[in-house]
Amino acid sequence: MSERYSQSSETFKKVEEIKKSDLSDNIKLVASKVLEDKPPSKAELVYLLGLKDSQERKSLFDLASCVRHDNVGDTIFVKGIIEFSNYCKRNCLYCGIRSSSKIERYRMTKDEILDIAIEMSNCGVDTIILQSGEDPFYTTEMIVDIIKSIRETTQRPVSLSIGERTVEELRIFKASGASKYLLKQETVNREIFEKVHGFDYDTRISLLKALVDLKYIAGGGNIIGLPDQTLSDIADDILFMREIGVRMAGIGPFIPTKDTPLEHYPAGSADLTLNAYACTRISIPLVQLPTTTALGTIDKNLQYKGFEAGCNVIMVNFTPDIYRKNYRIYDNKRKVEFYETIDDLSKMNRRMTSLIEKAGLNQR
Ligand code: SAM
Repeated sequence: MSERYSQSSETFKKVEEIKKSDLSDNIKLVASKVLEDKPPSKAELVYLLGLKDSQERKSLFDLASCVRHDNVGDTIFVKGIIEFSNYCKRNCLYCGIRSSSKIERYRMTKDEILDIAIEMSNCGVDTIILQSGEDPFYTTEMIVDIIKSIRETTQRPVSLSIGERTVEELRIFKASGASKYLLKQETVNREIFEKVHGFDYDTRISLLKALVDLKYIAGGGNIIGLPDQTLSDIADDILFMREIGVRMAGIGPFIPTKDTPLEHYPAGSADLTLNAYACTRISIPLVQLPTTTALGTIDKNLQYKGFEAGCNVIMVNFTPDIYRKNYRIYDNKRKVEFYETIDDLSKMNRRMTSLIEKAGLNQR
């Protein structure tokens, strides 16, 4: 047993309870490993991901919550996202803003972005996330200018989610003040990756590794429910993120989108997504783990359930409505609105709280 788990700790008690229960040997073994600070093996992950029994799933989620509590505490980090351009040069089969989509395109100016960043900062959000399709219109210099202006004006951490750029650009963005970068691997199954993306798998993986090397708080992540994806693939995604040292993991279910090649393909499973959150927390204890908008799009309450499964981040959307309606990466995308989210969080009967709730900054 690792030194930090005294016999009076919640984790110790939870593991003892699981060991004495009539749950499967598999979950008992994973519970014992938690006390030894050992991650689950691939076979164990596959088992956990596939859990359907409600008692076993509850035990898995409780273990994940203990791991979160012991490693990163019970604070919910509320991050704000600005979707500043829906132009994209990529043509990913699942995505509603793919280049061949016939949607109305928009690009926001630096001043528009900055105004929103200030509003976000005044609301008390933890990080300002700039997201877009992969849009080369925004040159290196333009992105640098935006990062620097936000940093100078708000002092908030800036996170980028703008797709693939050269390693040199990633280095320049970091030097200009961006501290986090999300570039999901989407799947480490090369065959599926190439089928749904049509661009180079090795480049994607090497850029994600470059983000780690450049000392970004680097974010990977996957889509749950891509065509032909198995539990083994999802376990590989988790092991891969652990191995390369990502510090954020964006994991969300596939949501079908009208007028895309995958429009008639079924949505990813919400239960499997929640199992994946718990597995990720147990495998990468320090990870920043959002409960994603894609899950909230299936059902708002499911998104909050992510907090019971080991998540500690929620992203609220600050994109102005005139643009947001066209940032349709998938159908019926939930608007995770700031005030509503903070109200909901404060009404929830749980021990996790956000700094915004604590500071009472949610007054309009
Ligand atoms: N262009 C950037 C990139 O590729 O990293 C960021 C923007 S991209 C729209 C953000 C994320 O949306 C992707 O990483 C992908 O996982 C997710 N996404 C897009 N379409 C989706 C869908 N139909 N269902 C679930 N997730 C989707």
